[in-house]
Amino acid sequence: MKNNINYILQKSINSHNLDEKEILLLLKTKSIKKLTSSADMIRKKYLGDEVHLRALIEFSNYCKQNCLYCGLQKTNLKLDRYRIKEQDIINLAKQAKNYGYKTVVLQSGEDPYYTIKKMVYIISEIKKLDLAITLSIGEKTFNEYKSYRQAGADRYLLRIETTDEKLYNKLNPGMNLKNRMQCLENIKKSGFEVGSGIMVGLPGQTLESIAKDIIYLKSIPVAMAGIGPFIYNPDTSISHLEKINKNNHFDLSLKVMAILRLIMPDINIPATTAMETLNHNGRLIALQSGANVVMPNATETIYRKKYEIYPGKICLNDSPEHCRTCIESKIKSIGRFISKSKGFHNSNVAI
Ligand code: SF4
Repeated sequence: MKNNINYILQKSINSHNLDEKEILLLLKTKSIKKLTSSADMIRKKYLGDEVHLRALIEFSNYCKQNCLYCGLQKTNLKLDRYRIKEQDIINLAKQAKNYGYKTVVLQSGEDPYYTIKKMVYIISEIKKLDLAITLSIGEKTFNEYKSYRQAGADRYLLRIETTDEKLYNKLNPGMNLKNRMQCLENIKKSGFEVGSGIMVGLPGQTLESIAKDIIYLKSIPVAMAGIGPFIYNPDTSISHLEKINKNNHFDLSLKVMAILRLIMPDINIPATTAMETLNHNGRLIALQSGANVVMPNATETIYRKKYEIYPGKICLNDSPEHCRTCIESKIKSIGRFISKSKGFHNSNVAI
């Protein structure tokens, strides 16, 4: 009985609590529809039908790190690098505000060009626009996190990617899992809403380790969890690994999202762009499987092709204006609507 999927789903609906073994059984289930429908029901119960939009500004594709799976890795000499000037980043945020966004996400590789002084200036200027600010700029010192928080940034996204220490240290040379976890602690201590998440389908990753990742995300606890399927990029050094799982990890990523919704009913979960790369309707399917956030690209078209973490990224030739109207009509097509609030965690609980 206790190994039965219906029993586990009912337990998660009632208590929002599952142990590692139960999570593993859900990850293995073939009844994906039952799992995603349960997550969708919980999303509706706790958060209603609103979808939060976050305008994504990819302001630099320089990175000092060398994560084997990422197209921005410093040893990828094929990538045409760019940096957007401070004032132009602020102007993109103004443009996003004019399109009706309430939050901007400032994302880049780990680029030392943007010193604390520069980032504090950018954050404080954008804050004057009455926008919520999410940062996704990698591993920093405690002091940097504190300075960015004090300057007005609200959320910080740092994906753990995997909690399998051996795998993490192998895929992220020069970095280590303990330091990554410490960064997340420091982000939390600095007063940010903590966002994290994992990559699903990494070479060498097991379902057992994904179950542990899910438990870890709940233990932080995260206010936002972003799940990205691994998409093989032939320009990265991961191609030197012997076994690369090039399968489509769409369904497994959906399962992970759905489980996160079941055990953390009121967090923000984005329907990621990578999901739409793997499935034409990927973001809408994710929104119907527990997700409640979409991050349309608000970066100018000339830069988009250069922010190539993985191949086949969607909307590369579209303008920020097009992305805004396109996503709105897609969201409406499934009976959902765009939130008028900034969508902070706990401020959007519908019950
Ligand atoms: S995953 Fe992040 S830190 Fe690693 S290479 Fe890519 S952009 Fe840099």
